[in-house]
Amino acid sequence: MKSHVLLESCCKSLKLPTVLREYGRLARQCGEENRGYAAFLQNVLELEVEQRRIKAMARRIKEAGFPAEKELSQFDFRAIPKVNKKRVLDLFTCEFIRKRECGVFVGQPGVGKTHLAIALGREACRRGLRVKWFTATGLATEYAEAREERVVLKLERAIERRDLIVIDELGYVPLGQNGAENLFGFFSKCYERISVVLTTNLPFSQWPQVFGDERLTGALLDRLTHRVQVVEMKGESYRLTGGRKRKGEEKKQPHEAE
Ligand code: ADP
Ligand code: MG
Repeated sequence: MKSHVLLESCCKSLKLPTVLREYGRLARQCGEENRGYAAFLQNVLELEVEQRRIKAMARRIKEAGFPAEKELSQFDFRAIPKVNKKRVLDLFTCEFIRKRECGVFVGQPGVGKTHLAIALGREACRRGLRVKWFTATGLATEYAEAREERVVLKLERAIERRDLIVIDELGYVPLGQNGAENLFGFFSKCYERISVVLTTNLPFSQWPQVFGDERLTGALLDRLTHRVQVVEMKGESYRLTGGRKRKGEEKKQPHEAE
């Protein structure tokens, strides 16, 4: 009893909750299997490390603030056959984040841009990277509020702590001059330092409409496209046709395989 209390106190001060929870069970198991002390110690510490990894991953996903749970495994590439699947899979290795490069998903509404951006962000979190999710207008608003409250530096520091910033829905709503300038500032901050993934319904040629300034947009695109993987998503809206199309394709498959 006394040794358990001591062990509990040691585990608490060393912050080893899994060791505390699992040591009894593992000790019994190792005893039954005639495995020595070293094996026991290794097993119990491995469990602690694994639990920590899982917890940290969940924390990173929570802190990123994704609006939904989407995974690559749920993405049906057959619904959008023209997409460059290899490029998508390459992005999901997250190498581009380590190289501080950018990714852009561009296409009409409903083709799965947000789905892939969320899935990519979650994958980065699982790989130990720190991610933050914004909508384009949300980020512009955060900047505006931070300026009002004179805490822009704080916001920028929060951004700089991340490895990847995801910006969803650039182009749906014109940003206005302040919004555009703020986003321009944001992109300058990130340039070659923090990866950015963005989704947009507008090809680059139409970006001046969003930012409202040809020169500013030119400078921004110059930086963004310096090192960027663009995934063009041409297809019909999954929201409108997804279910119907998939059923049709399932019926067609035996012929396709012939
Ligand atoms: P976008 O951001 O391009 O407007 P979304 O990613 O929001 O489109 O997609 C709309 C809905 O359809 C979401 O619920 C998404 O999960 C789903 N969806 C889109 N494309 C696919 C796909 N190829 N496979 C599976 N689900 C998809
Ligand atoms: Mg979207």
